[in-house]
Amino acid sequence: MLLPINNNQNVYIEITNPEHGGLGWELGTCLWSPVLARGGARAWKIMEKVQPGDFIIHLVDLNGLYHWYAISIAASSLIITNNKPPRPGKWDYADQYQRVNLEYFQPLSIPYPINIFFEKYDRELRSVLDIYRYKPGLFYVEYGSDKLLRVAQRYFASCPPELSEIFDTASQEIKFTPSFLKDQSVPTIHEPQNPDYTPPGRVKTYVSRIIRDTNLSRTVKEQNNWKCQICGNSILLPNGYQYAEGHHLKPLGGESQGPDTFDNIIILCPTHHTEFDYGSIAINPETYLIEHLDEFNEFHGKQMNYTRQDLNKDFIRFHYETRFKTF
Ligand SMILES: [Zn+2]
Repeated sequence: MLLPINNNQNVYIEITNPEHGGLGWELGTCLWSPVLARGGARAWKIMEKVQPGDFIIHLVDLNGLYHWYAISIAASSLIITNNKPPRPGKWDYADQYQRVNLEYFQPLSIPYPINIFFEKYDRELRSVLDIYRYKPGLFYVEYGSDKLLRVAQRYFASCPPELSEIFDTASQEIKFTPSFLKDQSVPTIHEPQNPDYTPPGRVKTYVSRIIRDTNLSRTVKEQNNWKCQICGNSILLPNGYQYAEGHHLKPLGGESQGPDTFDNIIILCPTHHTEFDYGSIAINPETYLIEHLDEFNEFHGKQMNYTRQDLNKDFIRFHYETRFKTF
């Protein structure tokens, strides 16, 4: 099963390209379009219907061929903004944009070419077309005298239950089970329970990290090539993405009420993130040298792999004074 889709949860399909909109508007972080089409019509009005918790299927153009690329969950309803994405592409003309924030973005391990999807589920897909023929808005159409199926020329499409079922069948056949569905305990029971962590429970660690991966944190990591500021390591994932973690030096929420801002986020590998959380390692706010509980640790007394001008000294100090050696 893709998801236990209930009556309140609708499914939509995004038809897009990998570039998507650039920094802060990346694929998997949001759905977006101009508010108005060039002619003034509300061409993407359907996005108004999206509610938090709705399920999004992402189709992405990879070298000229659409693939089923990922799934995600809507984290907001529609937001109208005057901010323009850094890479608006053909949608550069607009004054106002609309976006829906996303969470739980999970790519398939191998993108599924849509022409194979069309071949394999031809009969089922055509019967869905028959049902909805007079209600426009599916992601595919029949064209030509041969009535071949092809991806429709639109950015955003509805996905009625009959169509969701086909994706569901396909996901079973390719063994795509988004990991946030697995009902498992957190494997690392020794995780510190400071406010920056989701408490151990029936949520996987992997999920809690994704939840905390705010757009801001993602942006800082992208700007610094996902490299740990202590050791310089970056983790390469099988899907080609890089992985690093953003640590709030002054934790969000709780007593400290640290801000979710660039200057409060240090980029770390999982090992050094854990050491920061436990107070085993810190940055000395005066010398900017690394200090480690274990003075024989290879990083103790060394310079950071790289420093960032946009990191706030007061937050470095907060961590150093309240967390280091005190957890
Ligand atoms: Zn590291």
